Amino acid sequence: MASKMIQAIRGMNDVLPDEAHLWEYFEETVRDWLRAYGYRNVRTPILEKTDLFVRSIGEVTDIVEKEMYTFVDALNGESLALRPEGTAACVRAVIEHNLLYAGPQRLWYWGPMFRHERPQKGRFRQFHQVGVEAMGFPGPDINAEHLTMCARLWRSLELDGIALDLNTLGDAQSRERYRRRLVNYLERHEGSLDADSKRRLHANPLRVLDSKNPEMAELIAGAPKLAEDLDEVSMKSFEDLQGLLRESGVSFRINSRLVRGLDYYNGAVYEWVSNRLGAQNAVCAGGRYDALIEQIGGKAAPACGFAMGVERLLALVKVGAGTRARVSDVYLVRQGVAAERYGASVAEQLRDAGLAVILHCGGGSFKSQMKRADASGARYAMIVGDDEAGAGVVSVKPLREAAQQVRASVSEAIDLIKGKA
Ligand code: ATP
Ligand code: MG
Repeated sequence: MASKMIQAIRGMNDVLPDEAHLWEYFEETVRDWLRAYGYRNVRTPILEKTDLFVRSIGEVTDIVEKEMYTFVDALNGESLALRPEGTAACVRAVIEHNLLYAGPQRLWYWGPMFRHERPQKGRFRQFHQVGVEAMGFPGPDINAEHLTMCARLWRSLELDGIALDLNTLGDAQSRERYRRRLVNYLERHEGSLDADSKRRLHANPLRVLDSKNPEMAELIAGAPKLAEDLDEVSMKSFEDLQGLLRESGVSFRINSRLVRGLDYYNGAVYEWVSNRLGAQNAVCAGGRYDALIEQIGGKAAPACGFAMGVERLLALVKVGAGTRARVSDVYLVRQGVAAERYGASVAEQLRDAGLAVILHCGGGSFKSQMKRADASGARYAMIVGDDEAGAGVVSVKPLREAAQQVRASVSEAIDLIKGKA
């Protein structure tokens, strides 16, 4: 009796070969882009101590309150969490390995993140982020660099309809002043608050502004604005940033309600939103987090960064020439005892010459092997029978154009396939 199939976890997706080439195209574009700006890669574990995220993202946030996958390590009773985002771990690694000792750092990471959310279009339980962090830079020049970088990436990926929402959260004192005014306002409207917002009213009132509940939208729209409580340094820095963006031709709009869902942000914060994705429209988000390094136990240093949602961006990438799956150069068909051995060594010689070769395995008639060759998308079939094996030659047949099959030495065949003949 067949066993019952065990399926993947809800909200966690497989990427199959027909889709994987789109990911590869994205990864290659992103690598070139990061190299062009001098960012270096860090790779941290997928698991961290739960406390790292609680301390950085904040106790009264969606992520920490309800979205983290945590479990107790049976060996030592320690609480561990699958990372819900990348900044905290990146900062931890920088502190732990004392990277800032060598000067400011431009870093990036890439990989799966985990949040226990309700799966829907553009929202998954395992999703992927590319994150960029700059530590040891006070700004706003570095913020302008990040935003200019993003704009360039959208151009490279030929994405349009992505707009930049920008705000500043000011320093800790300005947020404290604002907090008092906001609590006052929310208390006056306590009756209209949903359960989450009631709970956050005193614990973390700024988070109320981040609510995704449409019934809260009107109340949020009428809330006092943070801009009126801003300190002078933050205001000046925010104005300078806007000037730098204008000079670089990066358009933006000020969104005074933008507060971001994580507590570690201060100063400039932003979100890139697409007009083509429906409700889950944010493709990239970030800002300054000047207090985080010290908060996690390092020596205070200014920092900022952003992370983009890979699945949401890939949903916007138009399938075109750049994203087409790469086909092999050659499918090598072989039949007969001597030909099987000879074919395998010819395939290695072709690979030595830099060609991509699929070597037919599993036997079968020439006819059935040629069908596989055709279906593989390879540009050429290379045919080897005992006859070719005996003479030390190969037969080459172009598969994507009407042309004659030719018999040639291996080196002639390589020249032909590489277009040198
Ligand atoms: P959202 O408002 O959509 O919940 P967020 O503010 O929680 O996003 P961040 O923590 O800032 O998101 O993460 C940066 C980016 O990662 C988001 O802009 C989005 O593109 C992507 N992202 C976040 N959560 C998910 C998810 N559950 N599934 C897919 N992508 C996600
Ligand atoms: Mg979220």
